[in-house]
Amino acid sequence: MTSHETGAIVAALTAKGAVVRFVGGCVRDALLERSVKDIDIATPDPPERVLELLRVAGIKAIPTGIDHGTVTAVIPPAHYEITTLRVDAETYGRHARVEFSSDWESDAARRDFTINAIYCDPQGEIFDPTGGIADLERGIVRFVGTPDTRIKEDYLRILRFFRFTAFYGTQPADSDGLAACRENAEALTSLSGERVAGEMLRLLESDNSGAVLKLMEQNGILDHLLPELKRTDRLCGIIAVDGPDPDPLRRLAAANSADEDGTHALAQRLRLSKVERERLTAIVTHEGEVAVDTDARGRRRLLYRLGAQAFEDLAFLEWAANPSEARSWRRHLRFAARWSRPALPIGGADVMALGVPRGPEVGNTLEAVEAWWIKGDFKADREKCLVKLRQLVAIG
Ligand code: ATP
Ligand code: MG
Repeated sequence: MTSHETGAIVAALTAKGAVVRFVGGCVRDALLERSVKDIDIATPDPPERVLELLRVAGIKAIPTGIDHGTVTAVIPPAHYEITTLRVDAETYGRHARVEFSSDWESDAARRDFTINAIYCDPQGEIFDPTGGIADLERGIVRFVGTPDTRIKEDYLRILRFFRFTAFYGTQPADSDGLAACRENAEALTSLSGERVAGEMLRLLESDNSGAVLKLMEQNGILDHLLPELKRTDRLCGIIAVDGPDPDPLRRLAAANSADEDGTHALAQRLRLSKVERERLTAIVTHEGEVAVDTDARGRRRLLYRLGAQAFEDLAFLEWAANPSEARSWRRHLRFAARWSRPALPIGGADVMALGVPRGPEVGNTLEAVEAWWIKGDFKADREKCLVKLRQLVAIG
């Protein structure tokens, strides 16, 4: 928040005398001395005026949510979300009829949690109208206002409650908030897959997500929304071994108890990409195929068949189940990271050059040579593969 770029944004926004404040994640994380990712700024100026102030200062601005009063300012690589102080006059799900205001306290009142409603001016002066700092210190994620009311305005707040609990909470979680989440859990199914996936994958980045997923399960949060995520012990297991740069999709796979069809459906429901969907499904299909005592030759063969991504995913999952074998698993994973896929040194043209007519027979013959080549640990070069090919074609 003290960077040169941020200073330029603040200077632009305050050029005509407006008072602006940082708010949300950047203030919360700065207070905890955690690294700050993106910066949110609140201003009493309406969005059209914000756009004009940025234009005058020569800063790129994108009207990302003019109706909601949000303008994004860009000084590469940083993005700044600048939001006009607002009151949500009526809320229907994520769509709120917004009224802009100059009242900081009512702006705080429409935010989700007290720890997200702490403000800080460019001089470092804190404004904390809902007692967010005390909650941050105690590790309590507390709704601003009445939990039930706030949840009914936007059911995503249930998932945000658990996400922020994972990152900032110490258990036990706030009992009023938890009760309201429990009572409203059925309505989670009304949320779009993208919003659910966004929150869940961010939750899974936390090393507390295993414990928090258990808490969600105990409170019936997952019953309607994601009943597949039953393997919380396996999730805890993978969290214990997958640092320091965890992969939330792999953690999702660890918690997933569905079969192949169920996993496909889960991925569709969460609107995951095709690549992500195939990755989740491969983990189910090939569960148990990567074993800790696999030798180098077996490893190469598995890598060739499964690809490095699936091999790594499966290795992590097995490792989670056998944490005592850390050294062997690390060796497998290092090997996978360095592995590059060998290419069969012959192709369809070589088969047809021997008189096999274009058609399925070409592919079948190639596959037979490939199987022999794999069995020989990928050692045969082009010459040797051609000899084998001639033999196979001669036999017919
Ligand atoms: P992070 O960026 O680390 O996820 P953040 O708190 O900055 O945390 P954002 O999603 O960037 O989260 O939102 C910025 C602020 O906007 C939040 O701190 C909160 O005050 C408010 N906010 C965001 N989403 C909601 C919501 N669904 N309901 C109420 N307030 C919200
Ligand atoms: Mg943010």
